[in-house]
Amino acid sequence: MSTKDSSLEQIVSLAKRRGFIYPGSDVYGGLSGTWDYGPLGVALKRNIQQLWWKMFVEDRDDMYGVDAAILMNQKVWQASGHVDTFTDPLVECQNCHGRFRADKLDDPNKCPTCGSEGAFGEARQFNMMFQTKVGPVDDESSVSYLRPETAQGIFTNYKNVVDTFYPSLPFGIAQQGKAFRNEISPRDFIFRSREFEQMEIEYFVDPASWEEAFEAWRQLVWQWTQALGLSDENVHELEVPAEERAHYSQRTIDFEYDFPIGREELLGLAYRTDFDLMNIQRASGKSMEYTVKGTNTKFVPHVIEPSFGLERTIMAVLSAAYSEDEVGGDKRIVLRLPEHLAPIRYAVSPLVRNKLELVAKAREVYDRLKNKYGAVMWDDNGNIGKRYRRQDEIGTPYCVVVDFDSLDDNSVTIRDRDTTEQRRVSIEEL
Ligand code: ATP
Repeated sequence: MSTKDSSLEQIVSLAKRRGFIYPGSDVYGGLSGTWDYGPLGVALKRNIQQLWWKMFVEDRDDMYGVDAAILMNQKVWQASGHVDTFTDPLVECQNCHGRFRADKLDDPNKCPTCGSEGAFGEARQFNMMFQTKVGPVDDESSVSYLRPETAQGIFTNYKNVVDTFYPSLPFGIAQQGKAFRNEISPRDFIFRSREFEQMEIEYFVDPASWEEAFEAWRQLVWQWTQALGLSDENVHELEVPAEERAHYSQRTIDFEYDFPIGREELLGLAYRTDFDLMNIQRASGKSMEYTVKGTNTKFVPHVIEPSFGLERTIMAVLSAAYSEDEVGGDKRIVLRLPEHLAPIRYAVSPLVRNKLELVAKAREVYDRLKNKYGAVMWDDNGNIGKRYRRQDEIGTPYCVVVDFDSLDDNSVTIRDRDTTEQRRVSIEEL
């Protein structure tokens, strides 16, 4: 079954039922645009973050990681243009007073809530930053914002990294972390949330070689979507035309994915020129120039920015993995997650749970695997068939069962999630 066949409802329902993702503040009726990760969701999320960090930071020698504060001096957002222009067009229905993002309406003249025709007035620009006050004094100088992107935390640390590590160009700085946007209409599960996580890279280059770096990152994005188990045919490049690009960008490719809600943006790759560093230089009065080693050549580097949204990645991974098939005449739901992303690698069970010897042997196997892989679950609830169904639903690649024969031959049955085939292997071999 392909992504197009899994519906959003199926994924939302599985995510809640099995402890991946719950609606935020659920006991109090929720808070629109917020989601909480349960035990399996947090494991999946971390596996994705770690894979990204390994691939783009640890495995390379031209990358530096940072973890900047979420609250930043308001000057950051003035200089970056966010205070003035980080807006979406907002319209209000004169009849039911529903508010909508004008550029996302199916019919620009019809209210999607009450159906009124032509009830919208002129759109006004709505700033998406969450404003807050820092400290006990409530005046203009205490204004701050929850960061709407992680990128500015990278740009403001560019000079620190250059001065402490003297990297050769090209080099990149990477950051993972929370971002907040007061979206007019959060929707489609975690796809458009008000609080989400980004994984961003600013790759600093000599302006003469931006095209080469852009192309290299374009290829790396494909390697990333493949590492997530997304099939190439469901990932699409959209070359964003000049009139739709952000004003600072001279080239942007949106990587789109065939989500159950349709083809939508998964991540972006942009050539941001020297826009951000020049803004910082102007607003702070501090030089952002880079001196090429062993020369007097100085210039402000240009930037290639691959920007990944973690929630949209999780949603793509879940929808690619979700499938339904039939086993022994019964319908089963199975998450065919790549093994390296699965929240649980192995589930270990004793065939029955009221035989002490069997349980002790199974515990031994469990401890052994747990020591090695960490992500191992003890599962002795219900009969074996039910355990397999449950583990299939959460995407556990292997179930290990300890039975009476195990006591004699020191072997166990290992069952494969995707093929449902069972093999006998010795405990030593596991
Ligand atoms: P959109 O056009 O869908 O609002 P955007 O172009 O504003 O997205 P960017 O500013 O390019 O998004 O942000 C980079 C990435 O951050 C996006 O590709 C997406 O993966 C993620 N992202 C942005 N906004 C949200 C959101 N509200 N909820 C979840 N992820 C988001």
